[in-house]
Amino acid sequence: ALYNMVQDLRGNIRVYCRIRPSFNAEAKGVIDFVGDDGSLVLLDPSKPGKDGRRVFNFNRVFGPTSTQDEIFMDTQPLIRSVMDGYNVCIFAYGQTGSGKTYTMSGPSGGSTTDMGINYLALNDLFQISSQRKDIINFFTFFPLTKHKLEIRSCTGDNGLSLPDATMRSVKSTTDVLNLIKLGEVNRFVSSTAMNNRSSRSHSVLTVHVHGKDSSGDNLHSCLHLVDLAGSERVDKSEVTGDRLKEAQCINKSLSCLGDVIMALAQKNSHIPYRNSKLTLLLQDSLGGHAKTLMFAHVSPEVDSFGETISTLKFAQRAS
Ligand code: ADP
Ligand code: MG
Repeated sequence: ALYNMVQDLRGNIRVYCRIRPSFNAEAKGVIDFVGDDGSLVLLDPSKPGKDGRRVFNFNRVFGPTSTQDEIFMDTQPLIRSVMDGYNVCIFAYGQTGSGKTYTMSGPSGGSTTDMGINYLALNDLFQISSQRKDIINFFTFFPLTKHKLEIRSCTGDNGLSLPDATMRSVKSTTDVLNLIKLGEVNRFVSSTAMNNRSSRSHSVLTVHVHGKDSSGDNLHSCLHLVDLAGSERVDKSEVTGDRLKEAQCINKSLSCLGDVIMALAQKNSHIPYRNSKLTLLLQDSLGGHAKTLMFAHVSPEVDSFGETISTLKFAQRAS
């Protein structure tokens, strides 16, 4: 509860930056310094020296050696506030290959070590849920508390395709793991069908929490865990037809998301939720009685400089 008060004072939007370890350890990357204060310095490879240094500030920066557990530690209080009735949205933003899926799901190939936020969050919620039941059973004059966790996984090509979404009731982390795997299979199929290695869809894992809290009040909240489509701009000369349309649709939904988050951060009276399906879907979990966390992912390699600077600008605009 104290955490929530502190969060309310600070505002309900936070932006963290995560830097992926370099694929080329010998080469000098474009990120020079990761500060404990949430700042980092981006180096423009075309301007050596002072002129090419640009400072960005976030609520936190996680360097390339940061672990999944460290990331989760910082995210856990936010996730737990779902059990206090807050709607929570966690986004992974960044170009393809920058580590979004690693943060949300874990390493590719179905490894069961270094699990990501999706798994750790659900595991944590199940634990809290069972602990609360114990407490309620102990204080028998309290109304019976039962939390039902429901998961909805939607994966689609064109931003979001809700008709394909499946709603499942889940009772254990094994159920969740199976569902996450299923989501990955679906996504793999759609990306190969497009003959495109990159993930050109948003993947949303929604957890609905329904039940009664310890004082008998209804608890109705949800947690959205969103692995966004890659933010890279498409080269119009390389894609045509449906793929161009799809890419433009994704870029539009990402820029609408940025507009909404910026409007919320600036406490504007008009929040443009209606401009995209993604923001419309997440409307109840953005703003109002909701908490939002965006992880901006960047790749440290020199050839990613253009996308890295645009990701950092996008994310700083929101914080
Ligand atoms: P994205 O989802 O943004 O396209 P991925 O999460 O698939 O990117 O990451 C690209 C590759 O880099 C994958 O092989 C992934 O396992 C690896 N990777 C990403 N982030 C990390 C990290 N923090 N530590 C180790 N490997 C990582
Ligand atoms: Mg991915």
